[in-house]
Amino acid sequence: MEAKIKKEFKERFGIEGTMYASAGRINLIGEHTDYNGGFVFPGAIDKVIMAEIAANGTDKVRVYSIDIKEYAEFGLNEEDAPTQSWARYIFGVCREILKRGGKVKGFDAVFAGNVPLGAGLSSSAALESCFAFALNDMFNDNSIDKFELAKIGQSTEHNYCGVNCGIMDQFASVFGKKGNLMRLDCRSLEHEYYPFNPEGYKLVLLDSKVKHELKDSPYNKRRQSCERVAARLGIETLRDATMEDLDKIKSDITAEDYMRARYVIGEKDRVLAVCDALVKGDYETVGKKMYETHEGLSKDYEVSCEELDYLNDIAKECGVTGSRIMGGGFGGCTINLVKDELYDNFIATAKAKFNEKYGHEPVVIDVVISDGAHKCE
Ligand code: ADP
Ligand code: MG
Repeated sequence: MEAKIKKEFKERFGIEGTMYASAGRINLIGEHTDYNGGFVFPGAIDKVIMAEIAANGTDKVRVYSIDIKEYAEFGLNEEDAPTQSWARYIFGVCREILKRGGKVKGFDAVFAGNVPLGAGLSSSAALESCFAFALNDMFNDNSIDKFELAKIGQSTEHNYCGVNCGIMDQFASVFGKKGNLMRLDCRSLEHEYYPFNPEGYKLVLLDSKVKHELKDSPYNKRRQSCERVAARLGIETLRDATMEDLDKIKSDITAEDYMRARYVIGEKDRVLAVCDALVKGDYETVGKKMYETHEGLSKDYEVSCEELDYLNDIAKECGVTGSRIMGGGFGGCTINLVKDELYDNFIATAKAKFNEKYGHEPVVIDVVISDGAHKCE
């Protein structure tokens, strides 16, 4: 990828620029916890967006996307927004830096990536954080702190791409470190690194390629259940609730709200248990917690679907250490922690069985926890 970018850049702009990269992300555990003030547990992966960039001495940005095979040129004022959706991510990053009083001048860029688009690995955050990191390095002497870089990416999604996302994806993409996952506290925004070096195991995603569009905005309904239970407990979010608290009010809330809250409270405890396990290098416990999360998402939170439950069942049958839905649910990927010696059989079995039942194979995405945004030396 790097050679291709360099060749394209040289041909288009006749000089050499500086190479930057950023990464997509996984979330090991901590699902539907962000809006409950809880923890998420992401890490950057070895699927990246790479860009070669050079200041061009003008007030125009000229950028070529190798993967989309499109060129865009735009100015840096609000009214200069490009029409191509991929270029709006880059324009948005420029604008958000300028809005914060940072500097951006005209530049030339060529970029490419291998983060699968729309598979739940956040290719858009990789793109934003690659450019945010680069423009901070090139025009601002790295004076914008890393958390602000993540927020620049998040605001880009909100203000230029119509996606009302949280901070996790951009956070993971900016802060990611090889061999480390990060526990992000969605209430205080504090984070802590935990070692993730599962020797003898592989981390693999199976993308079901299904997405169930649901009419009655299930996401909002889940949020409302959580808010009702928190209000009944007299607390701001379920982050502060225990199972005992919940059981005390069981008869005052609906059975459905009880189930939703049980999942959220359990998930907070599971993230903390995974942290303890990682410190000890105990990947069997990590895996057990992943299965428990899947069970909770499927039975209590009811955001799974037949296809993902099927992939989870296959994982169990194949002796996979841990497996669960990753992301909001109703489709997308499972994330699986698999012993090396069971990997080939698991992948072959999952492909064959899933294909037999649903007419297509899941897409296999191997991931290794890697560095987030950086300059390529
Ligand atoms: P994801 O879940 O992967 O973040 P999104 O729909 O949020 O999916 O973002 C995908 C968008 O990001 C693409 O439609 C494109 O505009 C941009 N993008 C991601 N990767 C690339 C790439 N390699 N080249 C060009 N644009 C990309
Ligand atoms: Mg995205």
